[in-house]
Amino acid sequence: MSNDAGFETLAIHAGQEPDPTTGAVVPPIYQVSTYAQDGVGGLRGGYEYSRSGNPTRTALQECLAALEDPVGAAAGTTRAMAFASGLAAEDTVLRTVMEPGAHAVIPDDAYGGTFRLFAKVLERWGVDHTPARLTDVDAVAAAIEPARTRIVWVETPTNPLLRVADIAAIAEVAHAAGALLVVDNTFASPYLQQPLLLGADVVVHSTTKYLGGHSDVVGGALVASDPELAERLAYHQNAMGAVNGPFDAWLTLRGIKTLAVRMDRHCANARAVVDALRDHPKVVEVFYPGLESNDGHHVAVKQMRDFGGMVSFRVAGGEQAALDVCARARVFTLGESLGGVESLIEHPGRMTHASVAGSALEVPADLVRLSVGIETVDDLVADVLQALG
Ligand SMILES: *Cc1c(COP(=O)(O)O)cnc(C)c1O
Repeated sequence: MSNDAGFETLAIHAGQEPDPTTGAVVPPIYQVSTYAQDGVGGLRGGYEYSRSGNPTRTALQECLAALEDPVGAAAGTTRAMAFASGLAAEDTVLRTVMEPGAHAVIPDDAYGGTFRLFAKVLERWGVDHTPARLTDVDAVAAAIEPARTRIVWVETPTNPLLRVADIAAIAEVAHAAGALLVVDNTFASPYLQQPLLLGADVVVHSTTKYLGGHSDVVGGALVASDPELAERLAYHQNAMGAVNGPFDAWLTLRGIKTLAVRMDRHCANARAVVDALRDHPKVVEVFYPGLESNDGHHVAVKQMRDFGGMVSFRVAGGEQAALDVCARARVFTLGESLGGVESLIEHPGRMTHASVAGSALEVPADLVRLSVGIETVDDLVADVLQALG
């Protein structure tokens, strides 16, 4: 695919030339573990074993690289690796880059599973971390320990408070200290934001969310622009083995084809839901990158194509009132996860973020998080209003 093709063209075609033997326009599901060799070491298509490489996974990986960095992917410098889950991808980048005694700066508002990986798994291996408010670049710089910090970990917009971090500014302070910048781009997706082009070294995805987009598959990805780092990550993908299976890769590719049109509708529907929430008497505060009051709104305007489909809000009356709103929702399904075509509602304090209770990442008890789907917008607005009572 030519490197000046547009985003939607790349989403549909990158890594997905028609199958050379049959002409199938969609990459087949290569549900296979091993490949015949023509004599020892005589590989026919470069494949020897499906942990090391599988053609369906290759198609997904090439597509993801093109979406995050079209020019780098076309040049072969930017590479993507697909994993069994977002956390498997995170674990792989952390164990590629970190060593005992190393340190990371992490968001003070992050996906609970990311925090759990740092706090409960990596700490036992002598890797420690400091939470910092990512919307304050000076606070990030202050949290960096020049001799020890290997990674500055950014999530933007953050989960669940939707703060927006300035990727280019944080890349500068991370690189000045010799640390890598890793950006979890799950909430924005490459359609809304391309961190590698802003200076990030590695992009992390839970492809379970917007990239897959249909709540039917779990997966993760890493994308890196430096060939030497990408090679180390690919080595660890194979050495640790938490790879994405062929059918999961195929489902994710199928989802990606409509990413742009889905995201446009997610964004438009979220805007309408925010309009209904912002002056509602039972709503204390709304978190959404498109609101001027939101932490990092001015950064979102320059860094993102649009403001995304995630909205959080605090309900007057405390935790019980927030739980009641979740219980009354009908079109919004009560459940964890996000980024699918169907709208979801959840209570972060009791659900997705239960693992950060008592830490610096604790979330407000009266908070409700919405993943605004692509159903009829009037139905979504009416449901939120009836749920508020
Ligand atoms: C869901 C999620 C993850 C973890 O991904 P899994 O696919 O569930 O392992 C990481 N980061 C963010 C922002 C997420 O929303």
